[in-house]
Amino acid sequence: MSTSATETPMSFPVHASAVPVSAERRAEILSDPGFGRYFTDHMAIATWTRDAGWHDAAVVPYGPLQLDPAAAVLHYAQEVFEGMKAYRHADGSVWSFRPEANAARLARSARRLALPEVPEQMFLEAVSQLVRTDEAWVPSGGESSLYLRPFMVATEAFLGVRSAHEVKFLVIASPAGSYFSGGVKPVSIWLSQDYTRAAFGGTGSAKCGGNYAASLVAQEEAHANGCDQVCFLDAGERKYVEELGGMNLYFVHDDGSIVTPELTGTILEGITRASILELAKDAGHEVSERRVSIEEWRGGVESGRITEVFACGTAAVVTPVGRLVSRDGELVHGTGGPGEVTTGIRQRLLDVQYGRAEDPHGWMHRLV
Ligand SMILES: *Cc1c(COP(=O)(O)O)cnc(C)c1O
Repeated sequence: MSTSATETPMSFPVHASAVPVSAERRAEILSDPGFGRYFTDHMAIATWTRDAGWHDAAVVPYGPLQLDPAAAVLHYAQEVFEGMKAYRHADGSVWSFRPEANAARLARSARRLALPEVPEQMFLEAVSQLVRTDEAWVPSGGESSLYLRPFMVATEAFLGVRSAHEVKFLVIASPAGSYFSGGVKPVSIWLSQDYTRAAFGGTGSAKCGGNYAASLVAQEEAHANGCDQVCFLDAGERKYVEELGGMNLYFVHDDGSIVTPELTGTILEGITRASILELAKDAGHEVSERRVSIEEWRGGVESGRITEVFACGTAAVVTPVGRLVSRDGELVHGTGGPGEVTTGIRQRLLDVQYGRAEDPHGWMHRLV
């Protein structure tokens, strides 16, 4: 689909909120923000139309959108999103992690959902301008951060089935506390044998709301079976491990080598996943990307070949998997506690993100 290329850099002028949250209330929120519950005073927004391309970009007061009830996104789910964080370093500066990778992935997701691309410069400017405006909302201490949610929705009021001619791009921001407040705790995983997440030719490798909508019933099944998360198998043979509803998976072997399911087109290409491939290599682990069957997982844990399993994604960073549960029984990894390799990789990544270690790959991008 055509995207009018923005030759001139897009700026996001700030229209400041007349009624920002008081410093007192903000401090109260930042002392225990949880995840995704509170939002900052502003949001970035821009409109795209087929005729005019991207325009009307600005940072405006946070608030409800006026959508026509016939807006295409409400009916046909033409939507894509991103998830990233702004991290406060000890010296007070604020940084993002590989934001150009989020920009590139949003563009890939947009192509798959027949949405226009947001140019990288415009994406980075929207994120930077919002974080500069709401800098006071970036928490400090522990593993807290300002979670950023760029997204794009089809707003055209039209019930005919085709890609929308009017679209909005927004970035909202939400302070997030440490994911694990009482120390890293392994999660339990339910193996979904009735539902799959993505099929060949589908939208599995695009970050779109529809994938999440389709995963919720399996997630509920996981909860009903006493598990935290759900793991999906490939839709073709129901044999190969794909990923969780919103996190990628890694397996650690007794010889220190680590493996993650290869990208087959149905797995979301996590930026955390890609970064761990690099960091683990730097740390001397042999790393590989290949298909991993559920039998290999089960057999490997039973034989002691697989010593640790962990999940990874921006929100929870690196999360040890303690148990795999299915209709066929339960499998406990190691002692059920966080393993040494998982803990090491988690620490290494956090140290780069929070500016406590060198950044040999140039992943950090200063925002404030
Ligand atoms: C966002 C997402 C991930 C993790 O990606 P990161 O870039 O590491 O945050 C993994 N799986 C799915 C389905 C996702 O939507």
